[in-house]
Amino acid sequence: MRRALATIATAAALATLTAALGPLAGCAPDEPTVVSREALGTVVSITAYGEDEAGVRAAIDEAFVAMAGVEAALDAYDPASEVSRFNASPYEEQSLPADAVEVLDAIQALDADAEFSPSLLGVVGLYDFEGTPSVPEDADLALAVAAADGFIRIDSDTAVFSRNAGPDPRLEPGGSLAPGLDFGGAAKGLALDRAREALRASGAVTAALITAVSSTVTLGSKPDGSAWRIGVEDPRDSSVVVAVFQVDGDGSVSTSGDYQRYFEQDGVRYHHILDPDTGAPVRGMRSLTVGGADLSGLASDILSTALFVKGTGDAAAYAEEAGIGLYVVDDEGRALTVPAPDDSGLVVTEMASPKP
Ligand code: AMP
Ligand code: MG
Repeated sequence: MRRALATIATAAALATLTAALGPLAGCAPDEPTVVSREALGTVVSITAYGEDEAGVRAAIDEAFVAMAGVEAALDAYDPASEVSRFNASPYEEQSLPADAVEVLDAIQALDADAEFSPSLLGVVGLYDFEGTPSVPEDADLALAVAAADGFIRIDSDTAVFSRNAGPDPRLEPGGSLAPGLDFGGAAKGLALDRAREALRASGAVTAALITAVSSTVTLGSKPDGSAWRIGVEDPRDSSVVVAVFQVDGDGSVSTSGDYQRYFEQDGVRYHHILDPDTGAPVRGMRSLTVGGADLSGLASDILSTALFVKGTGDAAAYAEEAGIGLYVVDDEGRALTVPAPDDSGLVVTEMASPKP
């Protein structure tokens, strides 16, 4: 399994989700077809309704093909991907993959540039979360952050890294501190949008929920008219659902957390959501979930990461202003909910207190 777009899907996390969603499979006309496959560095499950089961299954296959297309473009840990081609020569002006342009435009449209950095590949690499985890030296972190900061979008679809740091041989292409684009905080959401488009375009699927565990999109309304229910797990106990996001119709929900990729050293948790200014793991929260009926999967994925970096107070202010739902578990286990507006099609319900 690739680590690129990764959240590690635990069996418990999936059990949590399915518990929140209710029974998933069956054969009555109003029962959905459910298919789960490894994709996007995790397990993706599609629950789809439609009268013609063969048509629904064909549409689900198309949805997985669409998701693989986004991985082929944006997976920075796949040497054959389009973004890896860009990252191989970061100091040369090059065209960006079309999917990268879409992500960069969305970051700007969401006003998330200060918190969501698409250029942290070299910084994330210093922690080596999936290899031999290690706390980076301050000087290396400063070098990698400066190099990441050199990202310049020349025009809509071309970009380059300026030589902002060094000289240091490790900053050269292929070196351990070389700058590069990493869309790991957003690509999953874009892939889910593409999957939803594929299901919609098929004409065979009347309603669906597509989940990659930490991000979920919904399409249409279930035949029985009930809302989709997306469970949020306790960041310190994946068997407990602490909140439920209910979406009626199209919508999207995304969670970022300090428990998805992390290691501990000397009693300190080093996790994968990094402050772009310092390269250090962002403190203050254990998890943040954002959702909305009008949010694309891409927007909710960008926002869960960006609002985690903003911190609880600024995240809540952003959510209120944007009219989206928010649920935060802070670093002492306190929950904060910002409800979506009454007529927005999204309801956030607290189910249990998170662990202290
Ligand atoms: P997510 O789980 O969607 O919040 O994405 C986390 C992933 O995004 C990390 O594993 C990194 O690859 C990347 N990342 C970490 N910090 C940031 C940041 N401040 N801005 C953008 N991407 C980030
Ligand atoms: Mg994200």
